[in-house]
Amino acid sequence: MMSTKKERGKQRKKMGKGSRTCTRCGTHRAIIRSYGLNMCRRCFRETAVKLGFRKYS
Ligand SMILES: [Zn+2]
Repeated sequence: MMSTKKERGKQRKKMGKGSRTCTRCGTHRAIIRSYGLNMCRRCFRETAVKLGFRKYS
């Protein structure tokens, strides 16, 4: 589990065109594309709260 951290750092530089990343924080984890958001779950939640959504789903 710990060794995967190094590999991840290597792949980071590969991110760019074609990779789905959060438009807000840039992470590529748990991206939500369903609503054309292209945001990670975290940012989506934060944005949703700001927009007035208390809960989603
Ligand atoms: Zn994000």
